[in-house]
Amino acid sequence: MRVLIVEDDLQLGDGLLHGLRAAGFAADWVRDGTAADRSLLAESFSVVVLDLGLPGIDGRDLLQRLRARGDRTPVLVLTSRDAVEDRIAGLDGGADDYLVKPVAIAELAARLRALARRAAGEAAPILTIGALQIDPAAHSVCWHGTAVELGTREFAVLEELARNAGRVLSREQLESRLYEWDRALESNAIEVHVHHLRRKLAPELIRTIRGVGYLMPRAPGEV
Ligand code: CA
Repeated sequence: MRVLIVEDDLQLGDGLLHGLRAAGFAADWVRDGTAADRSLLAESFSVVVLDLGLPGIDGRDLLQRLRARGDRTPVLVLTSRDAVEDRIAGLDGGADDYLVKPVAIAELAARLRALARRAAGEAAPILTIGALQIDPAAHSVCWHGTAVELGTREFAVLEELARNAGRVLSREQLESRLYEWDRALESNAIEVHVHHLRRKLAPELIRTIRGVGYLMPRAPGEV
């Protein structure tokens, strides 16, 4: 799951970035509304953590722009303890949730997972696709009822394919959703992860669509 953090406070932004990465999210951090706007136009994020008081385009204006152009990426607004009006304005302006600073990373992580789940239209926290079960909160995977150990990146690739089961994802789509842009990417990284996933789980779980990308069938492992 890829998160965009928009926060101009250096200490808080840094804390959120490292906290969310440690919790297993692919997180990017920008410090003003203009950079956030640019990032959201260029890249695809699962969810946005938005501070309202920002230099440049302020948080409320950014949210308004986002919704005006039909961008439905879930947004969680960060507000100060006393700023009740901010909270109301944020929610009325199209935010999906809010948290009052100071933020506990564990609570933020849980709420972000819930937002992403809701956005994907899933009620159950466990993702079930055929014989595959994925628990995004526990970062655990079961194949035909047996737990399988996966690396963080492998898990992220599998989760993304599972959330899009039945649809082809290009290598670029997988890369853009899973990796921070400040991290150097091996050109064959996705191929390597897919190779490991097939070996650890099952070859038929992920199909290569030559020249297009990868696809997880809607019901892998079921006859
Ligand atoms: Ca601020």
